[in-house]
Amino acid sequence: MVVHVQKCQKCLSNNLKNILSRKAGQADRVYVQCQDCNEFVASYKIAPLGYYHHGKGFESFLRGVHRSGEFMSGRRVKHLFEKRKSGAIESFQKVLKLLEARDEEE
Ligand SMILES: [Zn+2]
Repeated sequence: MVVHVQKCQKCLSNNLKNILSRKAGQADRVYVQCQDCNEFVASYKIAPLGYYHHGKGFESFLRGVHRSGEFMSGRRVKHLFEKRKSGAIESFQKVLKLLEARDEEE
């Protein structure tokens, strides 16, 4: 796994704002803007069910499932949420460790 901290290509700041944009029938999109020089840094599309918002809980996840157009049982959605939550927390910890190791090398 390779980790990368996004930086502004103009001023090299990593003080960035993520703006989440939603439109019915389209993939959610994130726009990234530099908070130091206002430069447009990047935009990317989120895959269906690709978004996990930690701390937002099951209701928020459920809305995401509905938006994606997926139909599944309540039990299956709950299971998917638990799996997503633990997987996201676990991989976030891994990413932080890799970042720490990388920063120590520099
Ligand atoms: Zn900048």
